[in-house]
Amino acid sequence: MPAQTTDPKLRPAGVTLDRKAHELRVHWQDGHTSVYALDALREACPCAACRGGHEYMRPQFDPDLIELKPARSYNVQDIQLVGNYALQIFWDDGHSAGIYAWPYLRRICPCPSCRAARDQARDG
Ligand SMILES: [Zn+2]
Ligand SMILES: [Zn+2]
Repeated sequence: MPAQTTDPKLRPAGVTLDRKAHELRVHWQDGHTSVYALDALREACPCAACRGGHEYMRPQFDPDLIELKPARSYNVQDIQLVGNYALQIFWDDGHSAGIYAWPYLRRICPCPSCRAARDQARDG
């Protein structure tokens, strides 16, 4: 079984880095567009170091955290595709360990409709 998904909801059609707006936009094959504030995306870094590794590991990022105000402002130096399953982001603080898999990015989409869907899933 191939590990990679063919679900258009989880496949990117394009990625735009808008340095002026300080945003990363992911256009999905199902027509959806996710707009991530760079600061929030840095805070959402899925690598083990950023997700904590002391008393307990948090392998899954809580989508609610993306709405928190980040402690500082981050910039992106470079973005590279990792195979066809993820995005690796090189931050200006020297950090680049975070591999943002497409399903992860889609899951943390901060748009109102995705947020509402998450709330519903949590309540139900
Ligand atoms: Zn990290
Ligand atoms: Zn969305």
